[in-house]
Amino acid sequence: MRLLPPIDECIAAAERALDGHQLSRDYLKMLVRRAQDAIRAEIAADAGDLPCDRAGMLERVTAAVRNAFAADEPALAPVVNATGVVLHTNLGRALLAEEAIAAVVQAARAPVNLEYDLVSGARGDRDALIEGELCALTGAEAATVVNNNAAAVLLALSALAAGREVIISRGELIEIGGSFRIPEVMAQSGARLREVGTTNRTHPRDFTAAIGPETALLMKVHPSNYRVVGFTSEVTLAELAAIGRKHGIEVVEDLGSGALVDLAAFGLPREPLVSESVAAGAGLVTFSGDKLLGGPQAGIIVGRRGLVDRLKAHPLKRALRCDKLTLAALSATLRIYLRSRSVAGAIPTLRMLTRTPDELERVASEARAIIAERIGPGFAIEIVPSTSEIGSGSLPTHQLPSRALAITHPSLSPDAIAARFRRARPPVIGRISGGVFQLDMRTVSDVSMLALEFPDSDEQE
Ligand SMILES: *Cc1c(COP(=O)(O)O)cnc(C)c1O
Repeated sequence: MRLLPPIDECIAAAERALDGHQLSRDYLKMLVRRAQDAIRAEIAADAGDLPCDRAGMLERVTAAVRNAFAADEPALAPVVNATGVVLHTNLGRALLAEEAIAAVVQAARAPVNLEYDLVSGARGDRDALIEGELCALTGAEAATVVNNNAAAVLLALSALAAGREVIISRGELIEIGGSFRIPEVMAQSGARLREVGTTNRTHPRDFTAAIGPETALLMKVHPSNYRVVGFTSEVTLAELAAIGRKHGIEVVEDLGSGALVDLAAFGLPREPLVSESVAAGAGLVTFSGDKLLGGPQAGIIVGRRGLVDRLKAHPLKRALRCDKLTLAALSATLRIYLRSRSVAGAIPTLRMLTRTPDELERVASEARAIIAERIGPGFAIEIVPSTSEIGSGSLPTHQLPSRALAITHPSLSPDAIAARFRRARPPVIGRISGGVFQLDMRTVSDVSMLALEFPDSDEQE
């Protein structure tokens, strides 16, 4: 360790080694730090063949810097989703439609009328870019958009209920992965949670009995990622809206995924429609842009004009607002819903959900041929029936029949095979099912991405 030269000497050596790349000093420093870490790890592991003089060590640092430079790729990179989870939060949820991708590129490249009224030449409202489409698709009077659905719920509660009470059923106090918990969002907004009913049963009278001078809102939350089954009873949105009307209290619904079209038309189980919630009398409905809608990450809020206006006027709206790239993608996606005759074909998320077993069988045999050519000796690849899921808390109990490649090797564990696929270029994320590593084909949108480069097989698995 003592032979490792000081950082300035290493940087000077790295600069000579990578001469011609015109690298900044900060960048060279980052590469040197990586190289030093790699060497320290070697020393700590007592890997033999370490240099025993300073010149040799400097040589080693320079070589490690060259390696670090060659290996340095952008941290955010394409991967193949072969998990079978269509809306995989950790892999970025919905893929955008081509029109939406083009809109993002266009908005990135040139100035846009983001908040500029081209008729009057005065400042405009960025929500105006998507409000008309959202109202047309949901039947609502007004709409606004923020960074994600968690932000939408936080904004709605902050603007309408801070310092007062929000009544909600105990059966709907949800936690969504990544620490979205209704009681905690409620606390953050300054609203007080008033839970009523029990985990499995809540009745209209529970709400009525809890209403008092402190009540600001009645809230309903879609239990996206679980189902309460057995001896159960819930207060429907229509019932809640009737109670609200009688007492002059607004109802807010967090719909989670919120579909814009009826999935039953594609042979999928029904997920509640945003338009149904609006028609049933919710004052505000919030939902995600990148779940079943199939657009960019966003939190969409639709509802009555007076309520939406209060949200828009709240200081948090400014802090939670979407950028032009998101609005470009969302606007293009909504226009597909309005203008396309075949939404299921045009929105990638819906397209993936509606792939047939026949199509998946074809994709599987293509994929098997492509992978077999590159994976190396000893591996067996078999096409097996599998089940994929929608993910992101949509239709949690519903499994879609699918096809997968089951990949085995006589001397490698499923975990080792999974790691090998993660280290491939591009990385492939599969899953282990019944003790076997599998690549589910439903979520593989582009088979040509499976023309993989695997790491050298002599590496440790
Ligand atoms: C997914 C979900 C959220 C969180 O939405 P994000 O867009 O991930 O912030 C909140 N509530 C419900 C009911 C959900 O399903």
